[in-house]
Amino acid sequence: MLTRLGEQIEVAALKASPAGSARVFGALPPGALAALQSARFKKTLRLVAERAPFYRDAFRRLGIDVSRISHPSQLGDFYTSGDDLRREGPEAFLIGRAETAFETTGTTSPVPKRVLFSNRELNAMGSASAAALHLMGLRRDDTVLSAFDCSFWVSPAVARSALQYIGCFHVEAGKIDPLDCYTHAAAYKPNVIFGEPSWMIRFSQMAAERGTWPVKLLVAGGENIAESARAEVERVWGAPMLLNYGQTEAFGSLGLECLQKQGYHRNDLHFLFEIDRPDADGYGELVYTTLTRDVMPLIRYRASDVTKLVEEPCACGLFAKRLAKVRSRSDEMVVCGMGNVGPWVFEEILRGLAGVGDEWQAVLSNNGRFDVFELRVEAEVGGRSEVGGAEALDRAIRANVKERFPDFWKNLQMGLYELRVTPFSTGSLRTGRKLKRIVDERVLSDLQ
Ligand SMILES: [Zn+2]
Repeated sequence: MLTRLGEQIEVAALKASPAGSARVFGALPPGALAALQSARFKKTLRLVAERAPFYRDAFRRLGIDVSRISHPSQLGDFYTSGDDLRREGPEAFLIGRAETAFETTGTTSPVPKRVLFSNRELNAMGSASAAALHLMGLRRDDTVLSAFDCSFWVSPAVARSALQYIGCFHVEAGKIDPLDCYTHAAAYKPNVIFGEPSWMIRFSQMAAERGTWPVKLLVAGGENIAESARAEVERVWGAPMLLNYGQTEAFGSLGLECLQKQGYHRNDLHFLFEIDRPDADGYGELVYTTLTRDVMPLIRYRASDVTKLVEEPCACGLFAKRLAKVRSRSDEMVVCGMGNVGPWVFEEILRGLAGVGDEWQAVLSNNGRFDVFELRVEAEVGGRSEVGGAEALDRAIRANVKERFPDFWKNLQMGLYELRVTPFSTGSLRTGRKLKRIVDERVLSDLQ
C-alpha cells in the first residue's frame, strides 16, 4: 500500500516540472520511502540473481537465497568492489541492453572501471537532477556555462539531460584552460557555472583580475574543496558554490549540497545507503545499492569514501536526509587538483628514470588555494658541486607526466595544482617496515 503510494507520487513527480517534482517528493510520507526502497531493492536483487553472471555465481557460491532477503544488510559480508568491476568487466553485471558507457579512471589501478547505462536511466537521472538543481535555485530563464570534462565522464551527460528538463539556455565549454574559457564565457555572461572545484578556483582568479558579471550559483563536482578556497570563489562572484557528490558507478549524483553546506542531501529514491563498520561517531566506508537501474545494477557497492549517514533534519527544511562530507578515501587514492591519483600514477611517472631508486613518497598538501604534491624521491642526483642534478630530475619527471599522463599534465598547465620534486639520499625515506606512498596532509577539518 505504502509502496504503491510512493510509486504513484514518484510517477506524478517525474511528470511534473522540476518545481512540481521537488514539491511532490517533499510530500512523500517517511514510511512510503522505506517501503518504496524495499520493493525496489527486492526487484533489483531478483533480477541480478537471475541475469548477472557475477551476482548469480556469487550468491550460489555463498548459499544466499535472494527470496529471503529484504534489505542489503542481510547479505552479511557480501559486497561489490571497484576491483570486481575492473576484473570481471561490465558484462558480468549486465541485466539489460546497454546504450551508453562512461568510465572512471585513475583510481588505484591504471585499468578504468567501465559502467554501462540505458538512455532511460540517463533521462531518469536527468529528471532527478533537474529537481535537485531547481532546489538549488536554477530556473528556466538562467544561462548556464558548463566546463565539465566531457571525456568519458558521466557528469556532463547528466547535466545536459537535467538542463533539458529545466529548459534554460546552456553552453558547454568542456574542460579547457580557465583563461580561454573566461574569454569565451564573457560573451554569454552565464549566471550559473558548472565545473570541477580546482578548475573553478583558477577560473575565479582569472575573473577576479579581469572582471566579473552577475552570477547567482556555482555548481562543482568531481573532487573535494577546501572551505577557504570555496570562500574565495564565493567572494569573487558574490554567489554560493555548491557541491555535488557522485561517482560514475552511481551515474552522477549520490547527493547534493543545499545552501547550508552541511553535507549532501542524499538521493534515497535511487540508492540505498549503508555505512560499513561505522566508528563511534558513525563514520565508515560508504556502501550503496542502486534501486532503479535496468542495465548494470550494483549491490552493496563499496564507494571507498569515508562518511556517515546524517538522519537529523537539515536547517534548510528539505525532506531528503544527508550524507556527511566525505572525510577521506578508504584506499590510498586521493582526489585532488591533479585528478584521481593512486600510487600507481607515481610509479609510472618514475619508471625508467636513471638514478632513481624504488623508494618514493608523494605528500599532498593545500596552500589554501591549490593542492600541492611534493614528490620525494630517493635518487642519486650527484654531489653538491654537480649543479643541475636536482633540476635535471625535476625536468625528467615533468617530461614523463606530460608524455604518460596528458590529463594530469593539462591540469598542471592550467595551474590546478603544483608539483614539486625533492630528491632524497638513498635509504633516507623509509624509516619503518612499510612506506606509505601517498600522504594526504590537507587539513581534514578544512575539508569538512
Ligand atoms: Zn539542507
